[in-house]
Amino acid sequence: MQKLAVIGIAVFLGLTLCFSSPALAARKAPKVFNLNIHFVIAPKHKDSQKKFSEYIQRSVAVAEKAYSAAPRLKIDVTTSVKRKLGGKDLSNLEFADSVDLATFMDTHFDHVAVTKKSGHMTVLLTERLYFKDTKSRAGGSAYFPQWMIWGERYHGIVLVLPTRPETRKSAMILAHELGHVFGLKHSFDPYMNLDPRLNCNKKYRPLGERGKCATCTGKVVVEKFKDKAGKKRTRRYCKKGKSNIMDYCKAPKYYLNRCQRRRSALQRASYIFADGRTNYAKLKGVLGKKGRYCYKGIEAVGRNECRKKHKLGKACVRNAHCASRRCLAFRCTASSRRKKVKSAMQPGLKIRKRKK
Ligand SMILES: [Zn+2]
Repeated sequence: MQKLAVIGIAVFLGLTLCFSSPALAARKAPKVFNLNIHFVIAPKHKDSQKKFSEYIQRSVAVAEKAYSAAPRLKIDVTTSVKRKLGGKDLSNLEFADSVDLATFMDTHFDHVAVTKKSGHMTVLLTERLYFKDTKSRAGGSAYFPQWMIWGERYHGIVLVLPTRPETRKSAMILAHELGHVFGLKHSFDPYMNLDPRLNCNKKYRPLGERGKCATCTGKVVVEKFKDKAGKKRTRRYCKKGKSNIMDYCKAPKYYLNRCQRRRSALQRASYIFADGRTNYAKLKGVLGKKGRYCYKGIEAVGRNECRKKHKLGKACVRNAHCASRRCLAFRCTASSRRKKVKSAMQPGLKIRKRKK
């Protein structure tokens, strides 16, 4: 009996050591999510360039803090200045509607995947973003991964330099937009067809327009004001409390709930290869649907085109062009061996049951 107990303890210790081994943990789940972000800035005047770079620095620091759960977000920034593109003044952007903006971003400010493991996300930082259909301005725009058909392109993010870039809310806009990229919805929007454990807005009621500021942990204040056009409007803000990063609610402090921290971490993990490097092809959305391949991105104008994979005997340049995955002497040939790219996590969010 005693012997059995000793063996039991030994096995228990062995298992504990095995599961807590840092090497194993590192192999299973990369600790850092390295993300290159290229900011294209469009200042109206040359002297406001400093304001732009200070704003970028603060926004990046805030985003890294918000997504510090493993795999921790680590951003590397590069910037360039551009004032005109596609017949538009980049510092003062006007679009017919959000579809018009998406097309423009897709054409000119796509994410870049030079190879699967090298590239960058693209953020356009402008001074004004206006939609003619709703006669409204926006502070930023990004996409939610599930809005896209898997295998289609994701375009870059737009941010608007706030009138008061030094405030806490202003610095939170990048974190908010990255939240969408990391699978988070607005706190007032419902999550659809998902594992209930990944539905992060369950606590917030009501949803919809009226649910803005429902995440406030303090007192919600409703304020009436006149906008620049003299139109009477109301806005809500959170007094003496925190509001959610994915809410449209001004507050002295911001937070992500536990579900959001977990959900966004899983989404980040899905953008990491087993060797810890970032999957820019997936971030860009060019892994290609079954039976299709996509061209690699071109620096700055990284618009990708996807095509059907070629049959045996057809012309090719790369293995990826062929349905057989083998391109020999510029012809698709039969392959005996299949190569498969494995990412650390396959698309679609998976969650392990927590032990109590
Ligand atoms: Zn949003």
